[in-house]
Amino acid sequence: MFKLDSEAALLKAFRPKDRTHVEVSPDFTFPLTVHDYVAWPHPGGGRVFVVFATKGGAPTGIAFETNGGSSSVPQMCSWCHSSAVGTSVGLLTATLNSNKRVGVMVCADLSCANKIEEQANLGGYSPRPAMEKLIERMGRFASDALSIDLSGAGR
Ligand SMILES: [Zn+2]
Repeated sequence: MFKLDSEAALLKAFRPKDRTHVEVSPDFTFPLTVHDYVAWPHPGGGRVFVVFATKGGAPTGIAFETNGGSSSVPQMCSWCHSSAVGTSVGLLTATLNSNKRVGVMVCADLSCANKIEEQANLGGYSPRPAMEKLIERMGRFASDALSIDLSGAGR
């Protein structure tokens, strides 16, 4: 759990090059207490944002572009491992540098936490271990694929 004191603190979680694209959700009130992570769509569509913090790490934001694809075969979310047909799991892409974007197949609205909670409720077990793995996977994508320093350095 972490707290974002202001809109400025939320924007600071993103890389400078992403900040101009971020549209803070009108539903947020600050200080914003975040359990696990917070995700929200750009009101104009086409983008989805996530802010999370790994253990001991700084709040980290990723600005994704959605690509709107639809699939008739089940696609599995790389982060929460739920699968679905249609548009609910799709390729989200983020900027690595001016020449390259990298993508990840995940729940297109980043509702992974809800899926994990639903599964845990149905199975009668705690969602915590799966939730921690989810945040680890987000962190791995940010650090390995996007070269984001999870400690917050260089942002
Ligand atoms: Zn998911």
